[in-house]
Amino acid sequence: MKDPVCGEEISTTTYTYNYKGKTFYFCSPMCMAEFKKRPEKYAKS
Ligand SMILES: [Zn+2]
Repeated sequence: MKDPVCGEEISTTTYTYNYKGKTFYFCSPMCMAEFKKRPEKYAKS
């Protein structure tokens, strides 16, 4: 899977966030925080 914010391939599932019934995975807390700020921008794909 890929981080929707930075596009990096993710090898761990440490940082997860649920949005509109989908689970998204992130490489770092910073990317997760960025997603939470503008989820509508990143949740498209
Ligand atoms: Zn990232």
